[in-house]
Amino acid sequence: MTPTRVLVLNSGSSSVKYQLIDMADRSRLAVGLAERIGEETSALHHEPLAGGGGKRERHGRLADHDAALEAIAEELAADGMGLDSPELAVIGHRVVHGGLKLTVPTLVDDAMLKEIERLIPVAPLHNPANVTGIRTAQRLRPDLPQVAVFDTAFHSAMPEHAARYAIDVETADAHRVRRYGFHGTSHAYVSRKAAELLGKDPSEVNLIVLHLGNGASASAVRGGRCEDTSMGLTPLEGLVMGTRSGDIDPAVVFHLGRVAGMSMDEVDELLNKRSGLLGLCGDNDMRQIRRRMAEGDAAARLAFDIYIHRLKKYIGAYYAVLGTVDAVVFTAGVGENSAPVREAAVAGLEELGLAVDGELNAAGGKEARLISPSYARVKVAVVPTDEELEIAEQSYALVASR
Ligand code: AMP
Repeated sequence: MTPTRVLVLNSGSSSVKYQLIDMADRSRLAVGLAERIGEETSALHHEPLAGGGGKRERHGRLADHDAALEAIAEELAADGMGLDSPELAVIGHRVVHGGLKLTVPTLVDDAMLKEIERLIPVAPLHNPANVTGIRTAQRLRPDLPQVAVFDTAFHSAMPEHAARYAIDVETADAHRVRRYGFHGTSHAYVSRKAAELLGKDPSEVNLIVLHLGNGASASAVRGGRCEDTSMGLTPLEGLVMGTRSGDIDPAVVFHLGRVAGMSMDEVDELLNKRSGLLGLCGDNDMRQIRRRMAEGDAAARLAFDIYIHRLKKYIGAYYAVLGTVDAVVFTAGVGENSAPVREAAVAGLEELGLAVDGELNAAGGKEARLISPSYARVKVAVVPTDEELEIAEQSYALVASR
């Protein structure tokens, strides 16, 4: 029997998300999340999807990622789908930063782990957790192939003129300061699905992909390759996000240091955790912001308007970068679910060939769909992202090709 199952692990700084996927029919066998790792209030939410059984919860401290992964392995084993199962083909890991060297899905080995560790200064929140996740999985199943899939990979095709900041080249190179981009697995998956929806090969279409979740990024995709993306050295650059500022004059940092006496760490925390929608109006959930707007809340309205204004600037910029655009594609939590955001983002862009059909936009649904009227020169689409499936596809393809 050829093993066809892939365990996808997405290790964050204090959480591990996982999915067990059977590549024979792309079905999910189990999904779950270990959260607040390291705290007294740790929880593990586990849901076996094959054979019923229903959701299970565990509460109580998971001391570290090791403990979390062991608990996950126990839950899977209780459903007869443990890490020792002969049906498990590979463990696929989401790794946030692959830098310039790790640009394709890669079998885990010591040299690769060292490279991920070397990149910790440019991804201090994510890469350490990713390394821990991989090492723990190796300990639990030393004989099983493990594959790392990098968030930065899709953007590694960006031309130098998009990837470089206009700063002194020697300083930039010495410290690996350049634009890497993130959410690449999502941008890759969504742009392929969007081409499918348009009935074309990815090489035939130019797309503006808007991944609008709690983190948010835009990318300009020409013929299946990334030509520019809004996140940069870190996931802080670009669009207004749930808690991150996105683009900002870098002199704001010096100003806050000199005038407000804030330390580098304090400004870092401000821009990453207390800015964006949260900083502007106290809420980072678009649903709540819309509710407040309906009640006439001025701060929520302004936060929404700033969010949309930035989004529009990127649509315009990437339109200019691409020259011709086949579709603008919305994905992730906000992009998939918020009709008002989609409507506002393309409002007034009829001269660019962009329009949204009110009814199609409001209709909702879990499938990839067009929401532009039939006459629109540039299509507008909603394509649900599926980073876990994409990681599973890439990991499985790599081990199957060996
Ligand atoms: P993600 O990071 O892709 O999981 O997206 C999470 C974000 O999606 C949340 O913080 C919400 O702002 C947003 N979101 C989720 N569901 C909805 C919805 N029905 N309407 C508007 N925004 C939503």
